[in-house]
Amino acid sequence: MSRLSGITPSGHVHIGNYLGALQRWVAEGGEDDLYFVSDLHAMTTTHNPAKLRALAGEQLAVLIAAGIPAERIFVQSDLARELGALTWVLECTASFGEAARMIQFKEKSKGQAGVRLSLLTYPVLMAADILLQGADEVPVGDDQRQHVELARALARRFNGTYGEVFTVPRAVLPPTGARIRDLADPARKMSKSTRDSAGVVFVLDEPELIRRKVRRAVTDGQSTLEYRPEDRPGLANLLEILAACTGARPEEVARRHTSYGELKDAVADAVIELLRPVREGANALLADPAELDRVRKAGAARAAERGEHRLQSALRLIGAG
Ligand code: ATP
Ligand code: MG
Repeated sequence: MSRLSGITPSGHVHIGNYLGALQRWVAEGGEDDLYFVSDLHAMTTTHNPAKLRALAGEQLAVLIAAGIPAERIFVQSDLARELGALTWVLECTASFGEAARMIQFKEKSKGQAGVRLSLLTYPVLMAADILLQGADEVPVGDDQRQHVELARALARRFNGTYGEVFTVPRAVLPPTGARIRDLADPARKMSKSTRDSAGVVFVLDEPELIRRKVRRAVTDGQSTLEYRPEDRPGLANLLEILAACTGARPEEVARRHTSYGELKDAVADAVIELLRPVREGANALLADPAELDRVRKAGAARAAERGEHRLQSALRLIGAG
């Protein structure tokens, strides 16, 4: 079995990504699993090229420092030629209606001027990501399920029309973990692409900055501490973060602390210690561009080689070359 998971460099990696995704990838990753930094997917809306390039490198360093074996990670744009070719093959397999039906496209394009064509076609690139690597399981949230269904339909259609090339993938639900909320606005989840970063704890934030962000976390005026996610989301978020860092349950964590001040100090301490090795490891890699480049090229070469026979078979069967 082989799984494929990606992270888009739409911003800096935060503690939500770390607890909800990276940590799991490290714990549960199988031999054939692959992880990638999906920088091409970050180009479907207005973007800054230099910033995107820097963020992609940074995310690669963070994934490696988090403990994902370097040989199982690649940066999507390093396979731009292979993925570009396979995307074309799959666009010639998909219908316009299939792409236009995608809910995410409808939502993201609604009322926008100058919508990039790539916003419409990116699910086909995502199908290429999956089918090139022969992944059979793709762990995704609800927002990406429809895209994996498209990849599944295209694999079946291609195999049935031209010949068996692709593994038919399926979407699997990642284990449900706590959705970490924005510390400054507990009504919304913590996100990479949030403009105001006051409530977002980034993996590469310095300890003092983490402490400041946690101390300023929005809570409520009540004096008792109890775990009530519906009524007291700000407090519940802090309890969940501390629980995730320490392996306890949020209810237990609530019982162990008596005031907001004390709880926030404990959260800050735990987050700082949890992230310290990741930050230090990532910074060491980023300070050694030659080593990061070496690791990056090796990962890309492996991923390209792994998909090459599928790409060549697909091109041959569809009548190219
Ligand atoms: P964006 O704002 O660009 O959507 P994001 O922070 O939501 O960024 P994604 O790239 O959408 O991050 O997701 C990467 C992984 O991190 C996914 O597995 C997702 O489930 C997980 N993740 C994202 N945000 C959180 C969060 N707040 N809490 C827990 N897990 C999260
Ligand atoms: Mg997201």
